[in-house]
Amino acid sequence: MICLSEDVIVTGGAGFIGSNLVRYLTNKGFRVKVIDNLSSGNINNIKDLVNKGLINFLKMDLKFIKPNELKQVFSNSRVVYHLAANPEVRVSVVNPQVHFYENVVATFNVLEACRLAGVDVLVFTSSSTVYGDAKKLPTPEDYHPLVPISIYGAAKLASENLIITYSKLYGFKALILRLANIVGPYQTHGVIVDFIRKLKRNPKVLEILGDGTQRKSYLHISDLLSAIDVTLDYILKSSMNFEIFNVGNNDWVTVKEIADIVVDEMGLNNVKYVFRPGTKDGRGWVGDVKFMLLDISKITSIGWKPKYSSATAIRLAVRALLGKKV
Ligand code: NAD
Repeated sequence: MICLSEDVIVTGGAGFIGSNLVRYLTNKGFRVKVIDNLSSGNINNIKDLVNKGLINFLKMDLKFIKPNELKQVFSNSRVVYHLAANPEVRVSVVNPQVHFYENVVATFNVLEACRLAGVDVLVFTSSSTVYGDAKKLPTPEDYHPLVPISIYGAAKLASENLIITYSKLYGFKALILRLANIVGPYQTHGVIVDFIRKLKRNPKVLEILGDGTQRKSYLHISDLLSAIDVTLDYILKSSMNFEIFNVGNNDWVTVKEIADIVVDEMGLNNVKYVFRPGTKDGRGWVGDVKFMLLDISKITSIGWKPKYSSATAIRLAVRALLGKKV
């Protein structure tokens, strides 16, 4: 077990998943150091914790930091949760260089600092996008070949490979979590946020990127947090250097079904849906995986299961984002 008095690091801790994780860890009694450059994250997500002195916030850009400088920050920490990344799949296709620096170079700098500081465990939030257009659904962790269809997915896969080799060469443990779509409070990007923004602007018409039949798996943030706990506990006890887990739901929903939930929760009627396919086969944009369902038998075999279905997770997230009582 990790000792409660020890520091843990959360990179990207001012972002959506990061701020929820920081809150969760703080509630459990950990001393958390947050590293974030606030590019897509917001200090307001964690300001109360900073003001109460419960966390230490360091504004740093991981793509420019010197590993030796980062080593000082990591030096008293056994666990580093590396979440900082540019999560915008669409941006990665039009601006690949940004994703290389923000996802691959930043991860390399984190790995170097882990090596120099003697960190015990690195937890990495990878993505279902490493599977690309998988021919097998639900897709298991050992699916191959891994052919991502976006630079974002390729950058996650490159990072996974660096992490695995570092963990083997330098003797720390690596936990790689391939996440489905995560939804919940503090979310700032993704389909739900897009729909709510558009419907607040115009409650009569909703532009839906893609043909609406894209079908994917969604997981509530609270389920992700319990998955992180279970898998971290597992790897700490395991003799393996690294483990890869899919973290997602048993089911999936279409984009059209998500639109229906958002419209319902906003109390709207007769909204006209306008579908805008970004590709000939009805994806939202180039690089958008149209069908995603992860095989979660590996993680369920070690004692975790999701509490909420995809549809319920989405409904809860919409309510939270609308400021309704959940
Ligand atoms: P987010 O944008 O809300 O959080 C990312 C955080 O990283 C932000 O606070 C941002 O300011 C910070 N950051 C970005 N580049 C940085 C840099 N160079 N230096 C320091 N900080 C930097 O995104 P999120 O949805 O919370 O995603 C968190 C992680 O989970 C990311 O690695 C993302 O790729 C991964 N992930 C998310 C989902 C999802 O559905 N949200 C799914 C799969 C994987």
